[in-house]
Amino acid sequence: ATPMAIMVGTGLGARHGILFKHAGAIEAAARLDVVVFDKTGTLTLGQPEVVEVVAAPGSSAEEVLSIAAALERSSEHPLAQAILKRAEGLAERAGSDFSNIDGQGARGRVDGHAVFLGNHRLMQAQGIALGDLSEASARLQGAGRTVVHVAADGASLGLIAIADAVRPTAAVTVQTLRARGVKVAMLTGDNRPTAERIAAALGIDIVLADVLPGSKADEVKKLQAQGLRVAMVGDGINDAPALTQADVGFAIGAGTDVAIDSADVVLMRSDPYDVVRAIDIARGTLRKMH
Ligand code: ADP
Ligand code: MG
Repeated sequence: ATPMAIMVGTGLGARHGILFKHAGAIEAAARLDVVVFDKTGTLTLGQPEVVEVVAAPGSSAEEVLSIAAALERSSEHPLAQAILKRAEGLAERAGSDFSNIDGQGARGRVDGHAVFLGNHRLMQAQGIALGDLSEASARLQGAGRTVVHVAADGASLGLIAIADAVRPTAAVTVQTLRARGVKVAMLTGDNRPTAERIAAALGIDIVLADVLPGSKADEVKKLQAQGLRVAMVGDGINDAPALTQADVGFAIGAGTDVAIDSADVVLMRSDPYDVVRAIDIARGTLRKMH
């Protein structure tokens, strides 16, 4: 595109809080085959809330919550905030030796017991049987909830189901992209049943789930290896390498600084529909060069 057209396109974007950082971003945004959205904080609000607590026989919801909270007090994960909020008012337990297990959960000690909390995969890796909780876990994941399992001394104590509402414009964004001939994918560290349920509600047919934080960029690379021109839209630190790898990286403006620094385009309004507006502006800009 001519420098003049790029200037006009950049100005048009800025009016909508769409910041194209360089001319190449406009040119690449005009020619995308697929847009990959991070789930948590991008398609969803990123404000998770505990909606149900299920205790194993012999335990109680209060015990499950207070033990989880003792560890999550040391975590910076958004799910930790939801658990701490729900545990407010319960007797506090002493947690120690906290360590994060990237993309799966956390471990530590609570009242002298070895505690693990996190997803299904973490429980499997630790050889912790879900027993009576399997059914509740499947039901809640099928409903699109993120399930956090809590185990002490190798035995499952219970689970905490967490919901994160989808952003109001997420579904119309997916529909409009598809109408523009652009494929849409969802990329998440969350488990497959949960991801599938949310994707189905939004009309997304490509679901990349159970992806560890270090592998998000590889998923983008795999799509590029199929000859596709790929955009990635994300908000978190763990999205940064994928934003860099993508042909166009879009950062949600309310996200982390690391994501914003790694992106080619910043969406200041944190509205996923601004991806559609950005593509429309980019296509309009390139048309003007002829
Ligand atoms: P996302 O890609 O959705 O942002 P992450 O990669 O951060 O997710 O985490 C993947 C999964 O690991 C979460 O869906 C959750 O089940 C589990 N997990 C990670 N950290 C925690 C934590 N501190 N507490 C509970 N669960 C966690
Ligand atoms: Mg996220």
